[in-house]
Amino acid sequence: MSRTPLQPGTVAFVGAGPGDPDLLTVKALRALQQADVVIHDRLVARDILDLANPAAQLLNAGKEGFGPSMSQDDINGLIVAQALTGARVVRLKGGDPTVFGRLDEELDAVSAAGIDWHVVPGITAASASVAAIGQSQTKRGRNAAVRFLTGHDMKGFADHDWRTLARPGEVAAIYMGKKSARFIQGRLIMHGADRATPVTVIENASRLDQRVLSTTLERLPADLAEADLTGPALTFLGLAPRAAEAALVQSKQELA
Ligand code: SAH
Repeated sequence: MSRTPLQPGTVAFVGAGPGDPDLLTVKALRALQQADVVIHDRLVARDILDLANPAAQLLNAGKEGFGPSMSQDDINGLIVAQALTGARVVRLKGGDPTVFGRLDEELDAVSAAGIDWHVVPGITAASASVAAIGQSQTKRGRNAAVRFLTGHDMKGFADHDWRTLARPGEVAAIYMGKKSARFIQGRLIMHGADRATPVTVIENASRLDQRVLSTTLERLPADLAEADLTGPALTFLGLAPRAAEAALVQSKQELA
């Protein structure tokens, strides 16, 4: 942290949460209300941007999956240039800025320019997604750890510790996992995962257009293709919606 800033402006890296404006932190809301400039991602919803200081300049630095967009260098340059005008800059990122948010590149650029900065955490998509299905991310007797994975990274589909992930009871939140669903399914089954492992995909978690797809590892790619989800979606490996889980337990008891 730059304790003795050399430059007049400031940058707050702010988590916008999963979409519902009520899930912003009070600190995030204050930062938005006091901002001179808001540089936001494509994922940040309009009704959250509407909470910013009406006099603030809103700049879209949207990046989309593999698609074309502003380069990271250009975004870094934009943040630094705006702060150097003396502005209070809010760099607004979906969810929590520290989860798959390319935060470090931007922090490095701002620090190198001698600009004061701080991070305001936000509610990450995984938290909003489990809330939507009434499950918890960890559970005594089931899983003592939860992993946040990305479906793809700079090199393409991301590699992970598939052997561990394939074990019964494992829970993982897979971000950016739609395009890589078949790859992930193949790797897990190859490493011995049960094809009946529950998988839940939550699209637009916390938003009015939220959708929940409850499936299994076996059916994941086909069900995803059929559901044709167009919004941001989080894939939870190892969790079924609470209601579906209860129905499953009941039918097993009926069979017994
Ligand atoms: N920093 C963000 C994640 C950015 S990566 C966070 O903490 O949530 C972008 C991915 O996040 C999307 O591809 C999707 O997998 C997930 N995501 C973001 N918002 C979401 C939402 N409202 N519902 C479901 N998934 C979401």
